Amino acid sequence: MNSKEVMDAFDKYVVNTGARFPVVYDHAEGAKVWDKDGKEYIEMCAGYGANSLGYADPEWLDAVCAQLKKFQHTSNLYYHEIGAVVAQKLAERSGMKKVFFANSGGEANEAAYKIARKYGNTIADVHKNSILYMQTSFHGRTISETASTGSYPGMDAKFGPLTPGFFPVVINDIDDLKKQVAEHNPCAIIMELVQGEGGVIALDQAFVDAAVKLCHDNDILFIDDEVQAGIGRTGTFFTYEQYGFKPDIVSFAKGIGGGLPIGGVLTNEKTCDVLSPGEHGSTFGMNPAACAGANVVLDKMDEAFLADVRKKADYLRGELMKIDEVESLSGLGMMIGVNFKTKDYTQVVQELCENGVLAITTHGRLRLLPPLTITKEEMDQALQVFRKVLG
Ligand SMILES: *Cc1c(COP(=O)(O)O)cnc(C)c1O
Repeated sequence: MNSKEVMDAFDKYVVNTGARFPVVYDHAEGAKVWDKDGKEYIEMCAGYGANSLGYADPEWLDAVCAQLKKFQHTSNLYYHEIGAVVAQKLAERSGMKKVFFANSGGEANEAAYKIARKYGNTIADVHKNSILYMQTSFHGRTISETASTGSYPGMDAKFGPLTPGFFPVVINDIDDLKKQVAEHNPCAIIMELVQGEGGVIALDQAFVDAAVKLCHDNDILFIDDEVQAGIGRTGTFFTYEQYGFKPDIVSFAKGIGGGLPIGGVLTNEKTCDVLSPGEHGSTFGMNPAACAGANVVLDKMDEAFLADVRKKADYLRGELMKIDEVESLSGLGMMIGVNFKTKDYTQVVQELCENGVLAITTHGRLRLLPPLTITKEEMDQALQVFRKVLG
């Protein structure tokens, strides 16, 4: 098929849930992608951040292929070594206790909600099961996540009735947070420390501190959705490290598999034994090939790797700010929101694409989630295009 035939087949046979750019991937390496017509792009969005090690990382490829040759899948009725290895590394790395593996961020948050509700219904002293979320949040696409996602309003009318028991809080508004806690007696509060879809917004330290204290004082679980912000993206392995606290549940996905579908929740002493056999599960969860990829991601993301991510983020942010049209940057580390003085971000993202840079948008601004392994040369190539498009 040529590019046009591929795009036509998508139009005809694929349910249209994505506003796609006219780029048909052929192959990719590092942060570079070549389309079917041979045009080269620098990927500054890394598959929404999932391709944390970029493309064709040799060790990642070897580990995944080697596992595929041994066996590609089993169920939760049996044990396998690679799952044990990845679970142990995740727990040790995070300081959390145990992990439940699923295949995506959406499934990770569903698991978090089930743990929180069972905790509230059966373990917490006061029977409680409502969950607070942030008004500009994004937590996924299931019916419960749609009920707790504020960044795509109007969904209730289309997909309702949504799961009841979820209530919004205005971000960075401590008074509203206290009010909602008093009103709804929640079993959990979920937040992204750096909101992705909601606009690449890092929450205020004081707000997070207040939430941590409220959770502690009222036996409320703090669910930290690090599906986008976790796994090295913001310059530490998890973003909660920078905020100086430990959540009760951390959901993760995107970057952990290096591009393979894997996600899950990490639990602490309060939450690790809430679920019992038969109450939750996933056919593909803890898939051995995905675990083999995650194992390489975990091994590569040592302190030196993370220091390098921070250095590269500083460089990229510094160079972007030198461009006159750039008004300000948001987010943390390699999770970058870009505001323009006069230009329309949806127009900019189109022009970047035409000129060989793949970037994405979020509510109100441009968003960059480059592979964490992007090289200085690749960043410079992208910056050259930014200067041209924004000049
Ligand atoms: C992407 C994302 C999700 C949903 O993950 P999927 O893998 O698409 O289901 C949930 N929470 C956050 C913060 C995300 O960025």
